[in-house]
Amino acid sequence: MKCLIGLGSNLGDRLENLEGAVQRLCLLASTSHISASPVYETAALVPNGAPDTWHIPFLNAVIEFEWEGSCEDLLTETKKIESFMGRVSAERWAPRLIDLDILLFGDAKINTDSLTVPHPGIWDRDFVLAPLRDIAPTLRLPEKTETVFSRARNLCRDLPLWMGILNLTPDSFSDGGDLADLKSLKQKVETFEQAGVSIFDIGAESTRPGAGNVSSSDEWMRLHPTLEFLKERYQNKFFRPRISVDTRRSYIAEKALEYGVDCINDVSGLSDPAMLQLLKKNSCDIVLMHSLSIPADRNVTLSEDCDVVEIVKTWAERKIVELTDIGIDPARIIFDPGIGFGKTSQQSLALLQGAEAFLTLPVRILIGHSRKSFINSWGERMAKDRDWESVGISLRMSMLGINILRVHEPQFHIRAHRAFQGVRSWKT
Ligand code: ADP
Ligand code: MG
Repeated sequence: MKCLIGLGSNLGDRLENLEGAVQRLCLLASTSHISASPVYETAALVPNGAPDTWHIPFLNAVIEFEWEGSCEDLLTETKKIESFMGRVSAERWAPRLIDLDILLFGDAKINTDSLTVPHPGIWDRDFVLAPLRDIAPTLRLPEKTETVFSRARNLCRDLPLWMGILNLTPDSFSDGGDLADLKSLKQKVETFEQAGVSIFDIGAESTRPGAGNVSSSDEWMRLHPTLEFLKERYQNKFFRPRISVDTRRSYIAEKALEYGVDCINDVSGLSDPAMLQLLKKNSCDIVLMHSLSIPADRNVTLSEDCDVVEIVKTWAERKIVELTDIGIDPARIIFDPGIGFGKTSQQSLALLQGAEAFLTLPVRILIGHSRKSFINSWGERMAKDRDWESVGISLRMSMLGINILRVHEPQFHIRAHRAFQGVRSWKT
């Protein structure tokens, strides 16, 4: 039977607790084919008047797997895992080392003293719905007409995933050359891990205005050791960062997919037919970005008086239909309006202001605003000195319900977002 379990932890090494629980579940003979969602950090759900120590944020995720026994057997096993890992009985909303809740068990409906399935909390809890959406977007719960994707779109307004940028280029606009050796790459990866970055976006070709051409073989030579390093680092981990490769070459995408990367971020808007064929054969996620030219060219922008949100959205709709028509599932697509690519500063600002309009598209939405030159609207600064403004914009995008935020120093954004969430959800 196909089952879904929701996991939560807000005590101890939270990520290790999630990982340990799934590793234990994996050892059981009745379990097979486990897949895991990304991990979300969410504010604790507590009643008014809860002690201060109960407000520790949770890590939440969802796993899907095949289970051979009954649902009662599964509950017994999950309770065993919880107590083996050291969960002690405590008050209802108190912090917990590990919580394993059976969300769904095939299409079974169970209502006994010890089990309620589907889990009654699914539909109204953003911390369940967001990871569930990532793993089963088209799922419909019994007696609900809406899919999980559309419910999450309305309910999960403030739970973005953070995509951290790893530029392996010598010439990127703000951090070119910073990751020239494996030691600095490792340090950056550790910073991302500690901060809780969900997606690493690795690029080996700069697409900034004025960037030079890099050959395919140079692009691969830059990427290859990093992919090797990350593959080794996350082998056999369920809750690992997703790896995205930022490339517009099908040759590079193909080699990266052989390494098992999770996502291809093609800033050319999938303009190469060979890329389309490759992605059709694969099942990876796909970032579809709007641009007018790659590399970006400050002289090629949309016309001054156009409705930029409308134009970019119409383009996205057309592209999504094209992709769906060749058999690519919209659940794999992530649309990026391409801040700064073929847009004036005012147009980039208009796109950010109107970004909510993209939420009617049937795909996830990504925004990449970090350190881009429109930030000079608030004072001229070097690209490396634009993180504070980038963080401010991230908070706004998160509030609007944008799914993925692609940024250079995700650890700053995540800290700011944690405080922002904490104040919103604090119960006195
Ligand atoms: P909660 O998860 O609601 O914070 P617990 O993990 O302490 O609380 O669960 C309390 C009891 O809920 C469990 O002992 C179990 O018998 C019961 N329960 C009912 N339905 C489910 C379900 N779908 N998944 C897990 N536990 C469930
Ligand atoms: Mg529970």
